[in-house]
Amino acid sequence: MKNLITRRKFGKTASMGLAGGAMVANLPFACAMGEQKKKLGIALVGLGGYSTYQLAPALQNTQHCYLAAIVTGTPAKEKTWSQKYGIPQKSIYNYQNFDGIKDNPDVDIVYVVLPNSMHAEFSIRAAKAGKHVICEKPMAMNVAECDEIINACKASGVKLGMGYRLHSEPFTQAVKRFVREKTFGDVIHVSSDAAYRSMGSPGQWRLNRKLSGGGALVNMGVYAIQSSIYATGENPISVSAQEFSTRPEYFKDTDETITAQFEFPSGATATMMTSHNIRANRLHASCENGWFELDPASTYIPLAGRTSKGPLDFEQVSQQQLQMDDFASHILYETPNLAPGEMGKRDMIIVEAIYKSIAQGGKRQELEFSNSYGFSK
Ligand code: NAD
Repeated sequence: MKNLITRRKFGKTASMGLAGGAMVANLPFACAMGEQKKKLGIALVGLGGYSTYQLAPALQNTQHCYLAAIVTGTPAKEKTWSQKYGIPQKSIYNYQNFDGIKDNPDVDIVYVVLPNSMHAEFSIRAAKAGKHVICEKPMAMNVAECDEIINACKASGVKLGMGYRLHSEPFTQAVKRFVREKTFGDVIHVSSDAAYRSMGSPGQWRLNRKLSGGGALVNMGVYAIQSSIYATGENPISVSAQEFSTRPEYFKDTDETITAQFEFPSGATATMMTSHNIRANRLHASCENGWFELDPASTYIPLAGRTSKGPLDFEQVSQQQLQMDDFASHILYETPNLAPGEMGKRDMIIVEAIYKSIAQGGKRQELEFSNSYGFSK
């Protein structure tokens, strides 16, 4: 079968300005920079698995930002990180003295990579310190906290982005392009799964509602919600949801498996499944004149995809590298914010509606968003 989109064609598309992740490489450094910094300093807050194995390594290859500071509650990590990444003592903070970061000119962006219950506190403290903010998913514990983060960033005049790495990733950008350009006609139905089988310690924070805010839905479900939205190109107008539990002795405090059905303004529909007990990671869109799918659709690397016209083929680059460069580029060059705070809030509105539907025995919940709310091109 002939490739629908090859690496070469993707390169051309990117230079036409349609693909944020690849596009940043082409931006002229010198133009309009004046005295401005060419590379922005990022402070990672929380040095757990994601910072250690994904973000810090990716920051060794970024063009528009670099690892400038760390914030950790574990003193032993100060030494190992400072030695490994050459972080000066003045740029090492703990959770108590973190606010002093306001006086550190090397830090432009604070990236909050803590358990979900700490996202709002540290995003707001970062904004008050005058730093731009990247907040990991899910944005917060509830919609009210999302509003507090958004308002704090607005009040301080700083930019806010979500850690939604897929918006900078070429397979996902192809999906958004198919929808925008109606490559396969109107999208009729999307099916998306984002799940893994959790076998770790039952004491982990992800299974503790006070720290996580929920189970599979807030952890992996946000990817399935996101897929349903960018594969239809619309915000949903309703959702109905169901919860299933097969290992209640392990999932004592948080949801194990959730399915949900969305309706969209165009008449398109979507079904999603998320779980901490099932292995699945895919997105399939059935359209008027064909179909497209990604499988896997939201793992770090490598994603894969195919369409009714042929397979997809893109160069594999660290999604986190592309994501952080895109956000730095948004600050430096005013390129689009591919995953704004409003997108995180929209998804939390949907999360709350899904939990409400489950609590009401699967009752349909109406959702209200303006057409463009939470979208990025
Ligand atoms: P992790 O458990 O590996 O690390 C959590 C970090 O927070 C640790 O350094 C820990 O010391 C610290 N911490 C502070 N207070 C804590 C407390 N009370 N309990 C537990 N840990 C505490 O988690 P992670 O996988 O790095 O996830 C961190 C955040 O990043 C989460 O919000 C998660 O959803 C998000 N995440 C996003 C992606 C992505 O692809 N965008 C991937 C993984 C994680």
